[in-house]
Amino acid sequence: MRLLRPVRVRLTLWYVALLAVILAAFSGGVYLAMRANLSQNLDDSLQGRADLVLSLVSFQGGVPVLTAPNIPGDPVEGEHFVRVFDASGEAVFDNSAPGIAPASSASVAGALAGTTVRESIDGPGEPLRVLTVPLVRGSQTLGAVQVGLSEGDLRDTLRTLLVIIAFAYPATLVAATAGGIFLAGRALGPIDRLTRAARDITAEDLGRRLELDLPDDEVGRLARTFDDMIARLDDAFRRQRQFTADASHELRTPLTAIKGQAEVALQRERGPEAYRKALSAINGEVDRMIRLVGSLLTLARADAGQIPIAREDVDLGRLVAGAVEQVRPLAAARGVGLEAGPGPAVRLRADEDLLLQLLLNLLDNAVKHTPPGGSVTARWAAADGWAEVRVSDTGPGIAAEHLPHIFDRFYRVDPARTRADGGAGLGLSICRWIAEAHGGSIEAESEPGKGATFTLRLPAGAGP
Ligand code: ADP
Repeated sequence: MRLLRPVRVRLTLWYVALLAVILAAFSGGVYLAMRANLSQNLDDSLQGRADLVLSLVSFQGGVPVLTAPNIPGDPVEGEHFVRVFDASGEAVFDNSAPGIAPASSASVAGALAGTTVRESIDGPGEPLRVLTVPLVRGSQTLGAVQVGLSEGDLRDTLRTLLVIIAFAYPATLVAATAGGIFLAGRALGPIDRLTRAARDITAEDLGRRLELDLPDDEVGRLARTFDDMIARLDDAFRRQRQFTADASHELRTPLTAIKGQAEVALQRERGPEAYRKALSAINGEVDRMIRLVGSLLTLARADAGQIPIAREDVDLGRLVAGAVEQVRPLAAARGVGLEAGPGPAVRLRADEDLLLQLLLNLLDNAVKHTPPGGSVTARWAAADGWAEVRVSDTGPGIAAEHLPHIFDRFYRVDPARTRADGGAGLGLSICRWIAEAHGGSIEAESEPGKGATFTLRLPAGAGP
């Protein structure tokens, strides 16, 4: 059965089996048509001969007489005969060769009764086709004429046809099998090349591509689709590796700080104040780690599609106002003005907790980046089925070269500064995921020196 496994063998077998059936039907059809046609020809020439004999018969005293026994264009003796019968069924003329069966009385009786009878009888070599017709003068049947012709030619021709079919049928099938294997091999050859090339690509060298020079047909498209898939896999693997490396790096920083604090504290005996300071510094680093691990977990679960998105009825104005109130103590402590709205009444079908997390992130960033005396505003609006929230600040803004990247994981404009604030560059990545999980989007605009504006767009209305 292993032998039957390759597609080319199975394809060829199917094709040859189909061809065998079609050829058999075709050959059978040709044979039957040929036989019917030859039979018809034989009957026609019998009829012609019978008509000729009928025209040659004369009557003497009511008894039929055949005056010209040699009929022009006769075949070889023994392959034909003519018989003439009188009204009593007695043969008055018979030129049949010896060995030919006598006329069946039933066919002569039938002809005397007015019917034409066709039959086959044994001849000296081959069977003979016999036609018996009534001999009519006026309205009276005065006898019968019987003509016979050998079926030899007909049988010979059919036998030759059978021999041709018997040789041509298997020969055609053998040729078709060879041709089928060759064609299937040619058609499937590129797939073999594709398989070999694909087998050589391992997880470690996803940078490689098949790059097979194939035409734009089914196989060519398969190869190109495969290359595209490898490119996407490569990209995903690369990002995964980068993510792991960045996450490890981010976790090492607070761990190093904790280790440093602990070692310094343990170097020698110290007073309670020094221990408290060390513990408090360690506590700060642990808080940072908890936030970092929390963010990492959120992103990992988001990537795995494990965070269910609730579809609650959310009053956007109330949600923004609530977020602003939560950030107000931080803004007050930093001397930053904070303002929410006004805006129209907008309702959304959304996950309230996730949207709140998103808004808090944006507001927290804005407040942290705005110098004392500056201000942060959060406004919302709705148009064309979309709700929009804009969080603007009067901080230093974001330089154009950083703008396209700030939603990337671990991307920080000023690593030293934001790390001191406790950020790991994951906040905006989470914001983007939340926006997209709701079928929306988030983008940032900024004119450096004049602040930054983050715009969140979400589908508005009651929704599904
Ligand atoms: P983090 O959690 O470290 O703040 P984010 O993903 O929230 O990271 O932000 C990515 C980067 O975008 C930060 O490094 C920060 O410098 C910059 N950024 C975010 N919000 C603002 C803002 N309102 N003004 C200026 N820079 C901002």
